[in-house]
Amino acid sequence: MSETTDTIFGKIIRREIPAEIVYEDNLALAFKDVNPQAPVHILVIPKQPIAKLSDAESKDHALMGHLLLTAKRVAEQAGLTNGYRLVINTGPDGGQTVYHLHIHILGGRSLGWPPG
Ligand code: 5GP
Repeated sequence: MSETTDTIFGKIIRREIPAEIVYEDNLALAFKDVNPQAPVHILVIPKQPIAKLSDAESKDHALMGHLLLTAKRVAEQAGLTNGYRLVINTGPDGGQTVYHLHIHILGGRSLGWPPG
């Protein structure tokens, strides 16, 4: 998929398409992945459309910290007391398909390592 300034996640932020939203604040949104790879699979995204992690800059320092702490909070809210995994696929080799930065929260089962 090519990089664009708007993506399906922009449409979810603007409520143009539905999503199962589990958390929202002024900077971030978290919603269930439409194609879950684990019993719990939630995406945390910034409302600001940064395409991918490698595009984040020094000025995004506080936002990046906020996203990580939001992922922790959402994982707790989802009841993942036995652990979980955060994943940020970045660029073609990272397997990124939607070019709006997102943190995957995966949990609810024991996850294998290494990933494919
Ligand atoms: P990536 O492969 O870019 O790291 O992850 C993109 C994720 O977005 C995939 O896990 C995919 O299932 C999810 N996704 C793609 N389109 C939609 C959508 O319209 N709604 C939701 N909730 N998730 C989506």
